[in-house]
Amino acid sequence: MTKRCDVSIRGVEISFGAVRVLEKLDLEVAQSEFLVLLGPSGCGKSTLLNAIAGLIDVQAGKVWIGGRNVTWEEPKDRDIAMVFQSYALYPRMTVRGNMSFGLKVAGMPSAEIEKRVAAAAAMLKITELLDRRPAELSGGQRQRVAIGRALVRDAGVYLFDEPLSNLDAQLRAELRVEIKRLHHRLAATMIYVTHDQIEALTLADRIAVMKDRVIQQLGTPNEIYRTPANRFVASFVGSPA
Ligand code: ADP
Ligand code: MG
Repeated sequence: MTKRCDVSIRGVEISFGAVRVLEKLDLEVAQSEFLVLLGPSGCGKSTLLNAIAGLIDVQAGKVWIGGRNVTWEEPKDRDIAMVFQSYALYPRMTVRGNMSFGLKVAGMPSAEIEKRVAAAAAMLKITELLDRRPAELSGGQRQRVAIGRALVRDAGVYLFDEPLSNLDAQLRAELRVEIKRLHHRLAATMIYVTHDQIEALTLADRIAVMKDRVIQQLGTPNEIYRTPANRFVASFVGSPA
């Protein structure tokens, strides 16, 4: 894995009908950074992530990935890989099939696919599960497969939308450590959406706290926690009074 793209969001605006969800939003994510989008449910985190992925069109503003203006490019041309909360695995394919599928569709030679799947599976400790189907896996194992499927893409940016929200506390803690380890190991650019303060504070290089259509504060976990910009940020991250 060698590509590490920066991401630049400039003046992005998105509404659904009459409801404005993002307002003139700016955000710069550095190469190899772990950036967490943190905020309460409904504040627009997924909307922003989907706009970066190209799954939603912006009504104003621009999205740059790796120095390229991708605002009007299809998701497949954006050099991103995404992990969803709901795993979104293909139920009839094995783990190996799930991890290989996108690469096969892209026409990659099977030797290269095998190499990538083996490497990602080893990193995520799911090598023994490669011949199983999703129904034969626990929630934590499924989410490892979903992360593995993103890793094999060798993307410039990895996007995570609340990947641990469906898991119990024990597994969440375990996978948090795993994701942190992956980030260190790959030095990949990662943008990670969560409403969980602990996840944000433990994973992030920087946190963007979102509410009311805008980013309320952008800073390191220490800055956000120690010097919250306003009362909302303070109460949301549980800063000492
Ligand atoms: P979050 O991920 O932070 O929970 P979302 O980005 O999913 O928030 O949603 C932000 C707001 O936009 C919410 O009020 C949500 O109801 C609304 N919304 C999201 N997607 C759509 C859509 N496709 N159509 C209409 N409203 C939407
Ligand atoms: Mg969401």
